[in-house]
Order: sequence, then C-alpha cells, then structure tokens
Amino acid sequence: MDMTGFGSVVPRSDGAFSRRVAEFLAHNDDLLSTPSWTSGEAPVAETLRRLGDAGLLKAAATDSSDGAVPGCFRSAQLHEALASSACGAAGAAVLTHLEVGARLIAGKGGITESILEGMHAGKETVALAVTEPGGGSDLTAMSTRLGESGICGEKFMVTNLPVADWIIVLAVDTEHRTGKRSGPALLLVDAADPGVTVSTLETRSNAGFMGAVTLQDASVAAVLAPAGLGLLALVRHLLHERVMLSVRLSALAARALRQAVAETSSRHRFGDTLIKNQHLHYRLAEEWARLQSTRALVRYGLRQLARRSCTPSLAAMCKLHAAETARAVTELGVRFAGATGYRLSHPAPRLLADAIGLSLAGGADEVLLEHIDPKGSLAL
Ligand SMILES: Cc1cc2nc3c(=O)[nH]c(=O)nc-3n(C[C@H](O)[C@H](O)[C@H](O)COP(=O)(O)OP(=O)(O)OC[C@H]3O[C@@H](n4cnc5c(N)ncnc54)[C@H](O)[C@@H]3O)c2cc1C
Repeated sequence: MDMTGFGSVVPRSDGAFSRRVAEFLAHNDDLLSTPSWTSGEAPVAETLRRLGDAGLLKAAATDSSDGAVPGCFRSAQLHEALASSACGAAGAAVLTHLEVGARLIAGKGGITESILEGMHAGKETVALAVTEPGGGSDLTAMSTRLGESGICGEKFMVTNLPVADWIIVLAVDTEHRTGKRSGPALLLVDAADPGVTVSTLETRSNAGFMGAVTLQDASVAAVLAPAGLGLLALVRHLLHERVMLSVRLSALAARALRQAVAETSSRHRFGDTLIKNQHLHYRLAEEWARLQSTRALVRYGLRQLARRSCTPSLAAMCKLHAAETARAVTELGVRFAGATGYRLSHPAPRLLADAIGLSLAGGADEVLLEHIDPKGSLAL
C-alpha cells in the first residue's frame, strides 16, 4: 500500500495559480524556513508583504478570471501549499490574515475598503480578538464592554495581534451605542489607539505572533456588526474559518504521515526496516485510512462552502475530524521517530504542537461537538 501519495483536497484547482504559489515557495524558501519563526521574531509582516507583492493574497481571495475556480478553492490551494512548506507558522499567520481578518471586514464599506486593499497588498493586517482569559470557550462570560468612554477589557491568545494594524473586538454593548438589540457587537479598533496595549505571548508554536491586548477606553473605528449581531456575524464567519482550518490540518497531517512513513522505511531495527514490523505497519495504515476519510469530508466541506451550502454542523465536523486526525498522526510521527523525534531539529514535535494549536483555534473539539447536529441531514 502506498502511504505517501496524497493529492490536493481542493475539489477543483487552478493550475496557473498553483504554479504561481509553487514559484513563490521556491523563491522565498529563505523566509519560510528561517529559524526566526521559532525564535519569537516571526517575519509575519515580511511574509505578507512578499505574498502581496506577488499578487497572491488578492488572487487567493478572488475567483479565477473564467469563473471556473472559486476564490475559496484558490485560498485553500495556498493554505495547503503553505502547510506543506518548511515552516507551518507562516501558514498560520497567512490563514488568519486572509480567512479571518480580511473576510470579516470585506463588504463593510467606509474605512474597511482601504484596509482591505492594504491587506491584499500585504501592507496591513487585522487580528480578531474574541477570547478572554476569564472566558475562553464560554462567550457568555465575556467582560469586554463598550461604554461611554470607549471599549474596556482584555483579550488573549490572538493570532497576528503583535503585528496587527487593526483589531476586531467582540464587546458587549449594554448601553446600545451601536444598536437596539441586546448582545455583543463586533467592533474595529485601530491598534495605534492610545487606549490599546498589546503584548506578545510566549507560545509553543506561532512564536512571536500570538498576543494579548488590554483595552482602556479604546475608540471604535468602525462597527462591523451592531449590538446583538456580533455573535451572529462570528457564527457565520466560523463556517468559513473552520473549513479552511480543516484544509490546513489535513495538509499538516499528510505531511506528518509522509515523514513517518519515510522514516520508518529507512530505520533498521531487529534486522529489518521499522515499517516491516506488523504493529508499526498497521498503525500507519490505520492513520492513512483515517486521513483519507478526513480528506474526503474536507473536500465535501469545501465544495459546500463554494456553493454557499455549508452548514455549521458540516463545518464543525470537518474541523473536528481534521483536528483529531492531525493530532493522532503527528503524535505517531513523534513516537515512531524514537529519540531523534525528541531533538529540537526534528520536524515531528513541531508538527504536533501546530496540530494542538490549530485544534484550539476556531473552537476546541467539545465546542465543535456542540455545533454538530446529530438530527441534521447530511447528504454525503
Ligand atoms: C494557535 C491558536 C490560535 C488562536 N487564535 C485566536 C484568535 O486569533 N483570536 C481569538 O480570539 N482566539 C484565538 N485563540 C483562542 C481559542 O479560540 C481558544 O483557545 C479556544 O476558544 C478555547 O478557549 P480556552 O483556551 O480558554 O479553553 P477553555 O474554554 O478553558 O476550554 C478548555 C477545555 O475544556 C473544553 N470545554 C470548554 N467548554 C466546554 C463545555 N461546555 N463542555 C465540554 N467541554 C468544554 C474545551 O473544549 C477545552 O478542551 C487561539 C488559540 C490557539 C491555541
């Protein structure tokens, strides 16, 4: 059984765009492989700038000129390619830039139009600050508030925050300054506002671009969703983000499995290569089978996303399966590498850390399970 051949999960790919991405990766290996990604000096701004200069950010967000390949397929192609490249962290920053920040401000008018242009050029970026130290998955416990003097509160574990020019903040608007309904609003804040203090968090992966923010009477630059509609806007957005995260997770798992197969095929123990050992062979075969079914589900999720028919349940299923698969495969990769896998130079522990981080971003497993409707019909 060939356990190395994985094609793309993207249902229909744009060959010309693929070639441009491949060319970009080949010409920018210095940037994508630099140790700065793990030392805390992650070159996020430089990566976005080069991608913007190459026209790939704008292209990934738009349909192909003949309309045959939708933008979400092209961005999935980019995320898949980045997840398979030397450093996974670069892909995490790009996914947040394109699939979170840019999508949440798109079509909102006013200053967001010029920000979006800057984002497609790779000159500006926007982070989404939802998670709070005291609330986490429980958004009903959110304490960030919009009041008379501005926004006050604290958010943490926000991707790209230390390099962000703008921050999208989910905040409770009890005084109905943005709308009559009750519930949180989604607000855009200038990261250079005097009421904004950003700090960089030390993390296991994504080193240097995960941040926390304290908001002290920060001004609202734009209302992206008024009081009562902030959560709805986020739930709609999460459909897209979760499917894209599952593209990234399944590409990461494929990379880890390829690595594990190559390594067990070349390590000789007890008179033969490790992969000839029945237990190791079976475990790798099980993960190969699991990955193939995950990839089929993710492909279906992408197809439904392009048709605007993806349900919250389907998006949650894609991400849940992809996260479980990525964690299982990367953990196997670490174990089957033996002591070499414990060394800092080995890619397996890093892939495992990336898989754990991606599992939390956009909703942890149990939160995803809450969004899966066991009664819902899924015509696979
Ligand atoms: C790499 C990475 C990137 C991220 N990027 C962003 C970002 O850009 N913006 C942002 O706002 N946040 C971001 N986050 C934060 C992420 O959204 C949160 O980590 C996630 O929502 C979970 O919150 P928590 O970490 O506080 O865990 P907790 O809410 O404390 O959960 C801990 C565990 O308990 C489980 N759990 C929680 N509630 C329940 C329940 N009711 N029933 C059963 N089990 C439950 C969870 O599934 C989890 O396993 C990121 C996180 C990571 C790791």
